[in-house]
Amino acid sequence: AGVPEGSLDWKKGPCRFCGVGCGILVGVENGKAVAVKGDPNSSVNKGLLCVKGYHQIMCIQAKDRLEHALVKKNGTYVKTPINEALDIVANKMKETIEKHGKDSVAMYTSGQSTIPEGYVASKFMKGAIGTNNLDCNARLCMASAVAGFLTTFGADEPMGCYEDFDYADYYITWGNNMAEMHPVLFSRMLEEKNRRGAKIIDFATRTTRSSMAADRSILFEPQTDLAVGNAICYEIINNGWVNKSFVEKYCNFSKGLTKMGYGLEDKYKFKDKPTKINFEDYKAFLEDYSPEKVSKLTKVSVKDIKYLAAIYGDPNKKVMSLWCMGVNQHTRGTWMNNIIYNIHLLTGKISEPGNSPFSLTGQPSACGTAREVGTFTHKLPKGVVMNPKHRAKAAKIWKVPVEKIPSKPTYHATEMFRAVDRGDIKFIWTQAVNPLVSLPRTSRFRPGMEKESCFVVVSDVFPTPTSDVADVILPASWHIEKSGLYGNSERRTQHWDQMVEGPGETTPDAWMFIEVAKRMGYGDLFPYSKENHVEEIYNEYRQFHAGKKHEMAPLEVLKKESGAIWPYVDGKSTQWRFNAKYDPACSNGEEFHFYGKPDGKAVIWQRPYEPAPEMPDNEYPFWLNTGRVIEHWHTGSMTRRIPVLHKAMPHAYVEFHPDDAAALGIRNGAKVKVSSRRGSCILPASINERGLPTKGQIFVPFFDENMLINDVTLDAFCPISKEPDYKKCAVKVEKV
Ligand code: SF4
Repeated sequence: AGVPEGSLDWKKGPCRFCGVGCGILVGVENGKAVAVKGDPNSSVNKGLLCVKGYHQIMCIQAKDRLEHALVKKNGTYVKTPINEALDIVANKMKETIEKHGKDSVAMYTSGQSTIPEGYVASKFMKGAIGTNNLDCNARLCMASAVAGFLTTFGADEPMGCYEDFDYADYYITWGNNMAEMHPVLFSRMLEEKNRRGAKIIDFATRTTRSSMAADRSILFEPQTDLAVGNAICYEIINNGWVNKSFVEKYCNFSKGLTKMGYGLEDKYKFKDKPTKINFEDYKAFLEDYSPEKVSKLTKVSVKDIKYLAAIYGDPNKKVMSLWCMGVNQHTRGTWMNNIIYNIHLLTGKISEPGNSPFSLTGQPSACGTAREVGTFTHKLPKGVVMNPKHRAKAAKIWKVPVEKIPSKPTYHATEMFRAVDRGDIKFIWTQAVNPLVSLPRTSRFRPGMEKESCFVVVSDVFPTPTSDVADVILPASWHIEKSGLYGNSERRTQHWDQMVEGPGETTPDAWMFIEVAKRMGYGDLFPYSKENHVEEIYNEYRQFHAGKKHEMAPLEVLKKESGAIWPYVDGKSTQWRFNAKYDPACSNGEEFHFYGKPDGKAVIWQRPYEPAPEMPDNEYPFWLNTGRVIEHWHTGSMTRRIPVLHKAMPHAYVEFHPDDAAALGIRNGAKVKVSSRRGSCILPASINERGLPTKGQIFVPFFDENMLINDVTLDAFCPISKEPDYKKCAVKVEKV
């Protein structure tokens, strides 16, 4: 503010926050970041930013920044030189492995880590130590999307790109409040609506800012999106809207296990058993899902179901489906992803400009770091631990014996913290995550983290409820204080150079891993230099992606341009995969080639409706839905320190339908206790303010560590993806 733009040194990079991956320009003066604006040359946002984007650098000016390492001694945190703190971490990790074995140590990382950070974490845990005890918080937000892509196409990540917005006639959002979660993309939709009459249809369980701006808002009963999706497929088939030649040439049909359970047991094991079926079998299965049959269950009118189906069924209209947490954080999240693909495959509306099933990401590098680098327990960079060829490739590039890399996945996020609670994990290192605010049913996991038997290392930028239980707190660099790369929702990899120096002894996470690895005797595997480690790591990582299907752009290209979309082949981004017109990896001579599957065909899955693990009853009569607000990023550890955002949204609240509030005698602002069978939380009531829940449902945002709604949520998850369901559990509400 008040600084003439021309006097600043403007440096290019991606936004620190959501998975849209907007390009930002940071104005630097005398070594300090003093301004931010949208990058007009970025094809992602064309100069636009949302409120979080504009104010992002204000959080690094917060007074309680972690500038030095803190080591707990006799119950008190003592400021400690970073080198000494890293010695303690390395010694403790080594000692734990010697005493209890390599599977007694674990790391929990983030879709907010950079690509090099995720890569080094994977190499350190899987290649150097030899344990798959590595998972990341993308398990809480994107795992169902990954499982959906792999089961349907055999290849992860959306096939389209943001240019699809310029061609689509309809945007159908599935349980996705894009106006607050992906605001810059929502603005792009509004622009197309005004420019050429594109239509936004919001399909959700509550009325939000997105519904209010949509052309039509259709509400459904929680969990019944499975039934509505099947009813749309029923209509497509029974009205003759199937693109027969596409389906015959490019699709198979399959069914998997039903009644899979919900992962509530302490140690959960599940293996799906897919069986091939044919079109007639699938058509017969859908007989239970006619609009008339599902309307009562779903509370969606027959007319609305037919309206949705007719949009997808119209051969002259291009349709984008857009979804994120509403579909993924679902005990049948993988199935819901499959069902949306079923709709696009049956109609052949896929992999071409404007016809695009588009799974959006929440974090800036959920794609780049969690999915492509492989910070999930089952993943390797561009591969999985279960596949001997992928392990052999990793062993070759990492220069470790192949036997070192274990072939079985261990703990996904929820199970990792259950293992901490049981005492099976005795050392855990978390980075850029805040599990004691973000885990479902947090109250269950806090005691395990507090136990002396587990040594907890937390690297972060600010203190959090998670760092409150740490034995060592490491001061991490914020994104513009280090160089890095992020991968956004459209497969775009973006690079930035360090823009400013961080305060005190703040250090990039990648460098902290490398320093600890060296201290543990793995120095030979991490021969990177402090100055150029980002470049050296990225160049090593690119070797995993060699080949037309996944090739990553060279760093020089990423430095010059605002990122590139992989596969980057012959000097060009591939904007639409699996379509021979755009994708040079399509090699079978057909128009479409789903090359992730051995026979090149995508799978239409038979996926039934199953009820949620916990439904409202007489004792707990309300559905609880949790989520985000535009002002705050995830658990609020950064955005609550940005004064303007904190002022705009100072605390969490519980949103009621006015009729429910009236029946309970609750007024706007009154204190209300929300309780489940697991815990409770006291919040002010919000009536007729930002959103409007459907009767019988309440909504609470989860950004506020002082009003911890995740003490109330349920740790049930999708058995295929292991992603928890934060959107549905049964609660009661009382006036306080
Ligand atoms: Fe940042 Fe997402 Fe906002 Fe873009 S839409 S400015 S990436 S938070």
